[in-house]
Amino acid sequence: MDIRNEYRLFVDGNQVESVTGGRLSIVNPSTETELTTVAAGDSRDVDRAVAAARETLADWRSRPPAERAELLADVADRIRAARTELANLETLDTGKPRSQALADVDGCARAFEYYAGIADKIHGDSIPLGEEYVDYTVREPLGVTAQIIPWNYPIGIFGRSVAPALAAGNTAVVKPAEEAPLSSVRVAEIAADAGLPNGVLNVVPGRGDEAGAALSSHPDVDGVSFTGSVETGRQVGKAAMEHLAHVHLELGGKSPLVVFGDADLDAAIESAVAGLFTSNAGQICSGASRLLVHEDVHDAVVEQLAARVESLTVGPGMDDPDVGPLISADQLDRVASYVDAGRREYGAPLIGGVPDWTGYFVEPTIFDDVDHDSRLAQEEIFGPVLVVTTFADETEAIELTNDVDYGLVAGVFTEDLRRAHRFARDVHAGQIYVNEWFVGGIETPFGGYDNSGVGREKGLSAIENYTQKKNVGININR
Ligand code: NAD
Repeated sequence: MDIRNEYRLFVDGNQVESVTGGRLSIVNPSTETELTTVAAGDSRDVDRAVAAARETLADWRSRPPAERAELLADVADRIRAARTELANLETLDTGKPRSQALADVDGCARAFEYYAGIADKIHGDSIPLGEEYVDYTVREPLGVTAQIIPWNYPIGIFGRSVAPALAAGNTAVVKPAEEAPLSSVRVAEIAADAGLPNGVLNVVPGRGDEAGAALSSHPDVDGVSFTGSVETGRQVGKAAMEHLAHVHLELGGKSPLVVFGDADLDAAIESAVAGLFTSNAGQICSGASRLLVHEDVHDAVVEQLAARVESLTVGPGMDDPDVGPLISADQLDRVASYVDAGRREYGAPLIGGVPDWTGYFVEPTIFDDVDHDSRLAQEEIFGPVLVVTTFADETEAIELTNDVDYGLVAGVFTEDLRRAHRFARDVHAGQIYVNEWFVGGIETPFGGYDNSGVGREKGLSAIENYTQKKNVGININR
């Protein structure tokens, strides 16, 4: 298998040990056995990485954008060439089904390709002030940027966070999650093989409260991109603001898939399955974790959905089932506590539960007729647990959609285009899907309202995040 006995930090173009020599144990969630270990960085390693990123910044940002583009395109090609290795690594590290890991690797390559295409198109405007003046804006990189990423889509989030930073002329220091850091280290090595200059891309695995906290509070970091939980996001935001770094936060969600009576029910059911259960076992921020169904079609939808979910396979990631294990024992405990709460409140789930298997497995689980005010319907579970609630009319559907602390995604299934537009207008969320869940990719801006975050990743928005505008005003008569 493509796993080394040990992994190191990647700093200034080299694999290095951490200053303390400490290591994190990396566990295969499908088997609960140790897979390998990775060097555990702390604040001194973060200092080294930030210094390397600072040292090389002037060279990197001053290179012709077309040269940066060519390098990033080569990184994309090399990620594709290493597709099998990277997908195996990601599957073993996270437990996710292998075909889903392959799609994530493709997503990472696509992010490098997409931002390679943008690197030489980042330009300002000229602003008319009258004959006496020439006025123009320039988009400049922020400088040294930090990317703090979670364990659920490590290689995908690495790509979407790092590629725009580098395309815009920033240098980067990545802090992957302690549970799943391996693909971040490998992609940095691959990028170095493509000729990325030393120090442009550094990776410091380590604990969140050590390496992560040191990075977000580092006075020489100019911009912080954080993807993770709301609680940590608040801490990271405060730490970054202490030294007035640019910060954007991609946080959690409790996103509803709303099915009206006139909808194509088969399409809605397929999206309900793909939007939660077969997307990393529901450990996905944009998961369709609430199903809001019009009362007229509730019975038909729930019956067909349960039959479809019953047919899903659950097993170790390398067997490529529909649903793999959760990431860790902690995550299993967390999700199991919601399943227990559901059982206490609503009795047995319609389908699913927590089996007593080796590996951190939760079966695809559905609780029907869940009270909208309950914890199950309000809190992010981050596992394969769907809660179903009915509504009577459009007004109630929109009220229920908006009445949570999050605003990441909302999807509506209806044949009525006017209703779909009203939904898009009235719903408080960063992404609206109509008649399909997960519409869009690296091209489309992604981010949240309310507790789901601040700022937008992906698309051209990510370039805005990673640049600042300078205005130059010139009197040409003096
Ligand atoms: P988390 O917040 O625990 O960890 C995220 C990252 O932050 C990890 O690298 C962690 O080590 C680091 N970290 C932890 N404490 C830190 C601190 N004090 N300072 C700096 N960094 C610290 O989140 P998680 O459990 O890894 O991920 C799950 C959460 O992420 C869910 O809430 C999910 O919705 C969210 N998420 C959001 C998106 C999105 O794009 N909106 C995408 C994926 C995941």
